[in-house]
Amino acid sequence: MKILIIGGVAAGASAAARARRLAEKAEIVMLERGQHVSFANCGLPYHIGGAIAERDRLLLQTPESLRASLALDVRVGHEAVAIDRAAKSVKVREAGGGTYDESYDKLVLCPGASPIRPDLPGADHERVLVLRNVDDMDRIKALVDSGARRAVVIGGGYIGVEMAESLRERGLDVDLVEMVDQVMPPLDREMAHDMEEHMRWHGVRLHLGQKAAAFREADGAVAVELVSGTTLRADLVVMAAGVRPDTELARAAGLELGDRGGIRVDAHMRTSDPDIYAAGDAVEVTDFVTGRQAQIPLAGPANRQGRIAAENICGRDTEYTGTQGTAIVKIFDMTGGGTGASEKSLARLGTPYRKVYLHPSGHAGYYPGTAPMHVKVLFAPDSGKLLGAQVTGYDGVDKRLDVFATAIRAGMTVYDLQELELAYAPPYGSAKDPVNMAGFVASNILKGDVEPWYAEDYPDRTADGVVLDVRSPREYETWHIPGAVNVPLSRLRTLLDTLDRGRPVYVYCKVGFRSYLAYRILKQSGFQRVRTLSGGSMTFCAYHGTGVCRGAPEPPVMSYAEEKTLGAAAPSGRSVELDLCGLQCPGPIKRLADALHSASVGDEIRACATDQGFASDAPAWCKRQGHEVVSISRDGAKITAVIRKGAPLQQPAGAAAAAAKTKKTMVVFSGDLDKVLAAFVIANGALSRGDEVTMFFTFWGLNALRRPGPQTPGKPLLDRMFGWMMPKGANALKLSQMHMMGAGTAMMRHVMKEKKVDSLPDLIAAARAGGARIVACSMSMDVMGLKAEELVEGIEIGGVATFLGESDDAGMSLFI
Ligand code: FAD
Repeated sequence: MKILIIGGVAAGASAAARARRLAEKAEIVMLERGQHVSFANCGLPYHIGGAIAERDRLLLQTPESLRASLALDVRVGHEAVAIDRAAKSVKVREAGGGTYDESYDKLVLCPGASPIRPDLPGADHERVLVLRNVDDMDRIKALVDSGARRAVVIGGGYIGVEMAESLRERGLDVDLVEMVDQVMPPLDREMAHDMEEHMRWHGVRLHLGQKAAAFREADGAVAVELVSGTTLRADLVVMAAGVRPDTELARAAGLELGDRGGIRVDAHMRTSDPDIYAAGDAVEVTDFVTGRQAQIPLAGPANRQGRIAAENICGRDTEYTGTQGTAIVKIFDMTGGGTGASEKSLARLGTPYRKVYLHPSGHAGYYPGTAPMHVKVLFAPDSGKLLGAQVTGYDGVDKRLDVFATAIRAGMTVYDLQELELAYAPPYGSAKDPVNMAGFVASNILKGDVEPWYAEDYPDRTADGVVLDVRSPREYETWHIPGAVNVPLSRLRTLLDTLDRGRPVYVYCKVGFRSYLAYRILKQSGFQRVRTLSGGSMTFCAYHGTGVCRGAPEPPVMSYAEEKTLGAAAPSGRSVELDLCGLQCPGPIKRLADALHSASVGDEIRACATDQGFASDAPAWCKRQGHEVVSISRDGAKITAVIRKGAPLQQPAGAAAAAAKTKKTMVVFSGDLDKVLAAFVIANGALSRGDEVTMFFTFWGLNALRRPGPQTPGKPLLDRMFGWMMPKGANALKLSQMHMMGAGTAMMRHVMKEKKVDSLPDLIAAARAGGARIVACSMSMDVMGLKAEELVEGIEIGGVATFLGESDDAGMSLFI
């Protein structure tokens, strides 16, 4: 038997190797149009970044080694250009230009997929590159080695984020542009949030919800124009915008293609021609969970499919049972991934599901080196059968993902997860493993022991009740859901009568455990309508992208550190180490408070924590208490803050009032150009005096913060209509008077330019750079159908409580 294989990497090499092991006498020919076979394409980004130092380590096999070990006839530089099915022959073009025909008894198509190069002006620029094979890698690496300083990565999927990381590791300035409003689009948006923060922390500038429009030559570099109007300059652009199955040969040979564009195969990996098999990225697969056709380009499935094709060719009866899309990615010190269906895919298909979020530690909190992970599990509402899981975090993410992947493959339910006996010792896990915990929480929901509410229920679906925060007052003070009432869990039993039994109670805490206990207390004390926030404030903040309680640490740390230096206590020279690793909020802040209480003014506490919220919670808390954050740094999951104890806060009479005078708040209600200009002129003036400024944008004022470009897809018609009718951004606002069909407004802009008065976009940028807190009113956004991603970057979303909290301390409050 003669087996001819087209494509010599993952699927092709697997098919060849398996065929040889089953059929010693078969003639096996493998054609590869490139110069390398069986190379590690998954390792390509890491050689560019330097983690894999030797290029040769990526070249797992050579034609010679495959001939020697498996007696394969491997021909690199040989491209299959046509299939003659009747003659059972393939036309082959050699790199030198000659062609010949190669016959086959069985043909295996493993041509893979090609990176998508969007059809945009300038996309063929010599510095706009893709990454699929060793030659692509060499080209990118050569540019980096020759001194490229700035890179733009187009696409935030796993190849895009791996490239962003690798280029940062090489010291380049990196911008990542992603069309949807998150990185790692196969994950649900809230699960990608921490990874986005982590990328920003490592200096990657994310442009989410933005599209490239064109590429232009710009003095030896590339100007990348985004649809939003922003232009990014780069010495190198990596296009990681997805892949398209390579089906040209199959299509030309009349083989059936599937609805998703891949080669159609049956469970035996056989195409519509019984003598032709196909495997890898080029084929369409059945989604293991949803049963739908899908295109899932991953190395594991490609290898398994190649192997199965070979088994069937060699007379076995082996079936491929589908792809569940188990994928994982490293992003600097974080790891994230998913398996099975995501919430968005289930919602799109109309498949009923339930979900839980939890944030357990990677291993026992008291053993060094762990941090909370974020787990989301989706399951069937009736049977509890697992449908999907996503995990992100620092340690132990990969093994939990793999347990979930195995459980999904085995058809397990959330009840089964409770029973799994998983390896445990403190350095590796917990006696109740995160997977067991997911099973407990999900089973509790199915059994009716607890009823959850979700981040997306706020504010609309919680408006009829009380949002009850059962965390400590310290945590509440640092950040809370706008409008929430604080009754710490420890005082809940004694304060039950202060709550209205007739209204629904939406309880929350940081991760969901204290709120579960509160739920049980409330339910057994006669409160009928109680729900607990799944995933607590950690998931809430990730969902709403507030960054307040999860650590978007850089800007606040900078400003707090600078501000406090002004009145800082002199260093005493004494320093204390405080290990807070493994503790979860409020543990780190509580222990920090205790340590500072025992310290003397000027003493420094060097506190290490792995609770990721510590990066923003510590500065916020220190600021309120009058302590100075001397420095804050991150090493992997570990956050180290050096905090100097300040003088006691009993300030001289009038000091508080004096402090308040330095704070200015404004409600910007109007969307008129002149009024918004006035607001920002005042804001910048106040900032230049060293005042704190909070600007609360509501109703028409929100238009000033809109980003140009298309609206978020999928919005309801009314929201879209609102979006069309309202001005898009600072450059589209009109004068309140003398607009004169645009002439007056244009004249005003011209005069401002002539007189060198900053334009509104410049004033907005200056205010943001100066540290103004710019808050978009969540309620108005909802009414006007605006999405967070439709606003310019750096805007906080908040409710009226956020504004009122700020204006309480302010010396001036304006309504514009
Ligand atoms: P390929 O590996 O692409 O091999 C197809 C081969 O066929 C190519 O070498 C091509 O030159 C050759 N060929 C095509 N047409 C012809 C022709 N007409 N004649 C002769 N030869 C032809 N997956 C993961 O699961 N995890 C990861 O971490 C991961 N990281 C990745 C990182 C990068 C940078 C890339 C590019 C991919 C990554 N993948 C990852 C995806 C994974 O590599 C692919 O899913 C897998 O390689 C697909 O295998 P394949 O054999 O179908 O295609």
